[in-house]
Amino acid sequence: MLNCCIKLPYLTPAMHGIDLEQADHGLLDDLRIVATPAARGLSQLVLRTDVAGMPLEWIDYKEAARLYHQEQVAYTCGSLLYELYGGVSARTGLRTVLEVNSIVATVGHTGNPGNTRHDYVPPLNNQTLFRRDAYLCMYCSLRFPSRELSRDHIRPFSQGGTDSWTNVVAACRRCNNQKASRTPEQARMQLIAVPFTPTYAEYIFLKGRRVLADQMEYLVAHFPRSSPLHDRIQRWLS
Ligand SMILES: [Zn+2]
Repeated sequence: MLNCCIKLPYLTPAMHGIDLEQADHGLLDDLRIVATPAARGLSQLVLRTDVAGMPLEWIDYKEAARLYHQEQVAYTCGSLLYELYGGVSARTGLRTVLEVNSIVATVGHTGNPGNTRHDYVPPLNNQTLFRRDAYLCMYCSLRFPSRELSRDHIRPFSQGGTDSWTNVVAACRRCNNQKASRTPEQARMQLIAVPFTPTYAEYIFLKGRRVLADQMEYLVAHFPRSSPLHDRIQRWLS
């Protein structure tokens, strides 16, 4: 088995991960998951990677169990999440127990192009966009829950702007209204950060629900060294 997890200096042993769905609602105090593993129940998603360890997708416990049964799990990483009890083995007379870890590396075809194509562009949606921008309005730099943010087109459609990762930022309604159908220069408003297209590993992280510490460490290890998310995650957690 590969030892593929690195330690993040800003994750303390008491932190079991971060809850991005809570963060969407602006409950920033709940960003750190401090519940014990037992309290998480079966809703905790498993991070699936390919056999080379590249992150692929989030899967639920049923899909993880299917992969184990079909002997597609090459090795596991992270921590033990579930012990799933199956039927009684005719051969041994014992009940089968399946141990599912938080990260599973799988063999076979994946259907996900992101880990092999360097020009892959993840689909743009508000949830991952607002998470990319750490729930900050990219003009006034204040933090808002998702419902109070909007997608601002830096170069507006009316001036040839596109609906793409590098032309959109999270903006509060007030700033978006103030900017209207103008570029930041025309509106004399300055962006606090340069928008970027997430890599596949970054996108998987941004799509997460409750991302456990070991899953986060794994994903962050696959981010580009220059990823703005390193700093943004650190700020979320500080
Ligand atoms: Zn604003």
